[in-house]
Amino acid sequence: MRSKVVPFAVCALLAGLIPSAQTTTQQTTPQEPARPQTPTDVSAPPDDPVRMLVERLDLEKYKATIKGLTEFGDRRQGTDRNRAAVDWIEAQLKSYGCPTERIKYEYNPAPNTAGRGGRGRGRGNAAQGGGRLRGIRGRTGVNTDPEKQPDLALRELNMQPTTPGPREAVVCTKVGATHPEEMYIVSGHMDGHGWGAAANDDGSGTALVMELARVFSGADVRTERTIRFALWNNEETGSQAARAYIAQRQALQGKEDPPGSGKYPEPKWLGMIQHDMMLFDHGMPHEDGTMSKEQRPEADVNIEFQVNSKMAAESQKLAWIFQVANERYATDYPASVGSHMTNTDSGPFIDIIAAISLRENERGTQIGSGWDPQWHQPTDVYSTYSDKDFRLGLNAAQTTLGAVGTLTGATLKK
Ligand SMILES: [Zn+2]
Repeated sequence: MRSKVVPFAVCALLAGLIPSAQTTTQQTTPQEPARPQTPTDVSAPPDDPVRMLVERLDLEKYKATIKGLTEFGDRRQGTDRNRAAVDWIEAQLKSYGCPTERIKYEYNPAPNTAGRGGRGRGRGNAAQGGGRLRGIRGRTGVNTDPEKQPDLALRELNMQPTTPGPREAVVCTKVGATHPEEMYIVSGHMDGHGWGAAANDDGSGTALVMELARVFSGADVRTERTIRFALWNNEETGSQAARAYIAQRQALQGKEDPPGSGKYPEPKWLGMIQHDMMLFDHGMPHEDGTMSKEQRPEADVNIEFQVNSKMAAESQKLAWIFQVANERYATDYPASVGSHMTNTDSGPFIDIIAAISLRENERGTQIGSGWDPQWHQPTDVYSTYSDKDFRLGLNAAQTTLGAVGTLTGATLKK
């Protein structure tokens, strides 16, 4: 499948499918030697409204939102601490001026699989989602031992076990001014596990989505198209909230209700953008099993689509739009595009609409090789991370805000 993909990317760039790719042609006189040309124009005028919106993101606000989420411990699905976190997230979204709704569903797993998540490792050198595991590999897995959490208060907070039954997830919506009937879904998952505080997995993605909801809900912000911000529950057990959303709402897309009202409770889905583990890119484990202490200088935001899906072409196109937005709007870290998106809430959408994920590393080949030693471990707490780590998440936020602001025609009211 890979051999079919690369020519598409090149064709897409040449055909000008990507914003600003058209600006590459320069007038040259015949006498002049050919000058090197840049493949994309990454500059944006100083009065670009999307740039002004990106500048409303703030590292300290992003960190404070992650910290707020960690106050609810690991937010494991089917517990009081998870329900309290859903309530807190909803209160924040409302305070930003983003009207909320709840997705309701039941989660009743077979007893022997309750809460375990069923995330097996890839076999041999084959990574989950595709690709090959290469180089030095570290351990991965989900911690289930409370004694491994040295912070006694956090251990106590995480003690209540999960129970089957009703579940809820919260979404909020910015309605488009001229195309309320079409929308992008911007999401992360608010549940976690492993006896830490799920600071990175996925407090970092949840906080990113909440920060974007705050910026887009500003009183002076107008978008042509609708944006729905979704904070999925039950990602760690197999994306049951995202699956419930599809089951309940896929058939309602684009219908005006009531007729003639101009209201579209479920706008047509134009794309799905998931954020899952945004902070930690310290590179491959060392030979002795240790990790580099600091964010590697060449850290990047990993934008992934799934090449083995019905909507691969559309998803890839969306991924490259995000890569261009990163070049234009992200202040510190670049982005790279990969073709093996897997194991997150964008997965259930891959055969329906354009779907991508943003992460700190590739999920299959890198996180799957143990590049994030905090993953589902007691060490996934706020104090583990430095500003260089938080800044990678902020750069992913700048990337998504830039891309979605452009795609939805965001402007500022005078
Ligand atoms: Zn996650």
